[in-house]
Amino acid sequence: MNTWDKCKNCGGDRGLHHYETDQCPVGGREAPIGRKQEWKSTTFEIETENEVDELRKSVKELLARVEELEAQVERLQSGSELEESVRIFGAG
Ligand SMILES: [Zn+2]
Repeated sequence: MNTWDKCKNCGGDRGLHHYETDQCPVGGREAPIGRKQEWKSTTFEIETENEVDELRKSVKELLARVEELEAQVERLQSGSELEESVRIFGAG
């Protein structure tokens, strides 16, 4: 559990939420000194969906890139293998 996790309901850090009920602080932050902390009816919900979506997207992009590179490597390898076999064949 990280206190710096962000809440998707109020945008505040986990540590700012009510220690017993997990309720969101009004405004997503601590009340100014001298003011009573007020709590919203929502409770802490970790903001992961967007992050996961973004990660999923970058993984997809990376996989596409890897595929591209693998195809390139394959082309290069088959080219050099061909040369090599020709060389070996020629030497033999
Ligand atoms: Zn919250």
